[in-house]
Amino acid sequence: MKIYYIVLLLLFSTSLYSQQIVYIDNEKIQEYKNTLGIWLPAASKQELTALSNKYSSDIDQIYKLNNIKNNQITRKYYFISYSDAYLEKLKSQDIKREINTCKDKEFIWPLLDPIKISSVLGFRNKKFHPGLDLPVPGGKPVLASMEGLIIYDGYAEGYGRMIVIKHKNNYITRYAHNSVNLVRKGDFVKKGQIIAFAGSTGNSTGNHLHFEIRCRDVPLDPLDFLPAKNDLHIIHTLKNWK
Ligand SMILES: [Zn+2]
Repeated sequence: MKIYYIVLLLLFSTSLYSQQIVYIDNEKIQEYKNTLGIWLPAASKQELTALSNKYSSDIDQIYKLNNIKNNQITRKYYFISYSDAYLEKLKSQDIKREINTCKDKEFIWPLLDPIKISSVLGFRNKKFHPGLDLPVPGGKPVLASMEGLIIYDGYAEGYGRMIVIKHKNNYITRYAHNSVNLVRKGDFVKKGQIIAFAGSTGNSTGNHLHFEIRCRDVPLDPLDFLPAKNDLHIIHTLKNWK
């Protein structure tokens, strides 16, 4: 019986410290459904064909990746896959994604280069603010902080355009005020994968990402989960809920 517990403990501790390699999407190389490419706007079949020619990608694959049925072009953005030749071209220009090594249970920052925090978790006047506000120029990539299943993509009161991801162990993350939501409910995303473009939709006074980490729907302090960033400027530091 004792040995059984030791084995369990060993399994648990190795899983706690297991490392994973994470590719961080940027404005040139992005990933969707295990395919590399880029999210671009297209308003018609002709525009999609032109994009597939530009990136020498397979038009059938583009239709399949984006779940386009009966030639219905209804969305603003589509994922355009890169051909191997185009990827080689990027490689020759030294254009690549950043590689992050982190613990598989570790959340990552949902922006490429967060510079400041304009609000933390806690009471703002008399209203509880359930996450972090990260100012970011509109149109910049919003990244999945942890791998998981997209359970919401839409427009919510106050939150504006929002993506919600469900993770292991009853954690969810919310990404709000986006200008464009890219991924769709039912998609599975990897940590570091682009899910939206930042914006100022909903109850927002300027371009920023509102980011929440919840467990069983209880908002937690993202700063307790994200890797330390000492150079980050925190405008509002009052942690008045603890
Ligand atoms: Zn906020």
